[in-house]
Amino acid sequence: MLCPRVLRLLRGGLPRLAWELARPARGSASAPGAADFNSFVARTNTCGELRSAHVGQEVTLYGWIQYQRHGLFLVLRDFQGLTQIILPQDEAHSHVRKLLSNAPVESVVRVTGIVSSRPPGQENPKMPTGDIEVKVETAEILNSCKKLPFEIKDFIKKSEALRMQYRYLDLRSFQLQYNLRLRSQIVMRMQEYLCNLHGFVDVETPTLFKRTPGGAKEFLVPSREAGKFYSLPQSPQQFKQLLMVGGVDRYFQVARCYRDEGSRPDRQPEFTQIDIEMSFVDQAGIQRLIEGLLQYSWPQERGGVTTPFPAMTYEEALADYGTDKPDTRFGMKIVDISDILRRSDVQFVQNALSYPRGTVKAICIPQGVRYLKNKDLESLKESAKSQFNQEVMDMICRPDGSLKSLLTKLLGKEQQSELMRALNVQVDDVVLLAAGEHKRVCSALGSLRLESADLLEAAGMMLRDPTAFHFLWVVDFPLFLPKEENPAELESAHHPFTAPHPADTNLLYSDPTKVRSQHYDLVLNGNEIGGGSIRIHNAEQQRFVLEKVLKEDSEVLSHLLEALEFGAPPHGGIALGLDRLISLIVGAPSIRDVIAFPKSFRGRDLMGNAPDYVTPEELEPYHIQVSWPVAETEAKKN
Ligand code: ASP
Repeated sequence: MLCPRVLRLLRGGLPRLAWELARPARGSASAPGAADFNSFVARTNTCGELRSAHVGQEVTLYGWIQYQRHGLFLVLRDFQGLTQIILPQDEAHSHVRKLLSNAPVESVVRVTGIVSSRPPGQENPKMPTGDIEVKVETAEILNSCKKLPFEIKDFIKKSEALRMQYRYLDLRSFQLQYNLRLRSQIVMRMQEYLCNLHGFVDVETPTLFKRTPGGAKEFLVPSREAGKFYSLPQSPQQFKQLLMVGGVDRYFQVARCYRDEGSRPDRQPEFTQIDIEMSFVDQAGIQRLIEGLLQYSWPQERGGVTTPFPAMTYEEALADYGTDKPDTRFGMKIVDISDILRRSDVQFVQNALSYPRGTVKAICIPQGVRYLKNKDLESLKESAKSQFNQEVMDMICRPDGSLKSLLTKLLGKEQQSELMRALNVQVDDVVLLAAGEHKRVCSALGSLRLESADLLEAAGMMLRDPTAFHFLWVVDFPLFLPKEENPAELESAHHPFTAPHPADTNLLYSDPTKVRSQHYDLVLNGNEIGGGSIRIHNAEQQRFVLEKVLKEDSEVLSHLLEALEFGAPPHGGIALGLDRLISLIVGAPSIRDVIAFPKSFRGRDLMGNAPDYVTPEELEPYHIQVSWPVAETEAKKN
């Protein structure tokens, strides 16, 4: 028999986090409202529901055994919480006591009993059900659990590979239960906002289609027609535009998209978008729609969403933050110091400025001297070199307010203080300076800005508020960008259906590199969570973009080009990346934490072991032979 103090410890020692997550979220997007969790089944309550008001009631609970304590009590868990179950100690109920105390942890059981108050002093204020316990009268082991590969407790660390192999066990954790339930509630609110409040129509579009030129690589699906393949669409882009031609003038879909991008950390080969298209709309119309949608579906416990969201042009984003998805939760902006240094004798500065897009820029790392080690500064410089082929020089502000760097000898007093004013340098700050081509310098400093923010935070500085959500529209993107692998050729910055900025339409035919587009991205805390555009609805213009600018075979898109000739309305749309959005809302380290059955970063399903080999016989109807001999050997083994 355990003494009351030990019992109290055991009862009080349950993880706090679990309780916080188990608590049904209140708020617009997550209010359980009038949902009846006990309809159609024999249970009277969930394991998170019982309170003092239920004392005296007979209840039936179903759940998994989370803890077992010496034949005295156990803790039962379901998606909503934990309830303490007291085992009967009298002879008449010895079979129930034996049954439950012999059941392994994680066995699934039914218990029926009477809700009672916990003895005075044994309440657990950390548990929502901490004032009561259930004195069990009858019980049934519905299914016993064999030895587990890991404990189902949020605070127990386990490798991600093991979690993915036993995903159905990992799903029992409060964290994943919370993430998936919140996701479901947010999607429901989005559907409500779009369909009920604004007349959108939820339309499903095919997943077996054909190749779309431009954009991401698509997965191929063999067909029974020799040499012919379907493609899994990277998004329902063509279909949603065709729906506009078809007069379905407000479309939305929770759409599954597929992109064969190889192994990329925190990307999934299949992922979900909230996909939207509207007729007779302009850029501002889509932006207001999305702001309203996020405000309406945002979980109240994460604070409110203030609208309209600020906007920044692509050029500004690149110049100030070195990226088209700026994290605006903190400063450390890139500052152009070309004009200050233009008058200096510094050779590398003069050299950089002699080129047409030559520039000198810098960022100031607050308190860098105190928070960054020498090796951190070296690794920052090394990373600019290896990732961007960009040399970076550091300057340090000494306690007496003077600058220490290789450059200072070459600069006059006046230039030094101008530099410090421009960058707002304080004692113990570190300045990182780069000279060279505009885009390269900005990208390198933008990346160093984020890397140094991580380093400062790792060393204890509070730079980005983890509870803050900073939305930002990035607009006025160029319509085309030079291809990375061959800069002489152009590719669409968004996709080939994006319309030019009305003020730049003529440039499309004379100098396409100068055309701005009607493409907008939505950024949240430095992550792109959505993107869209007003579309080309004129067949001639679309053909010109495909054939003359992008040098694509427009034949693949003849159906769309033809559709545009049949009175296609002006239209535009957007897609929100649902997985990324939810992962930011719940603060998950990876999008895999908000997807029920995610793939590994190599694109594998570690639970079911997909993709898998198939036999030559199974391949025959598709006129496909695998030339790799190992495949056949392996297939035979299976
Ligand atoms: N289909 C686009 C994408 O997946 C979004 C859009 O333009 O609506 O990025």
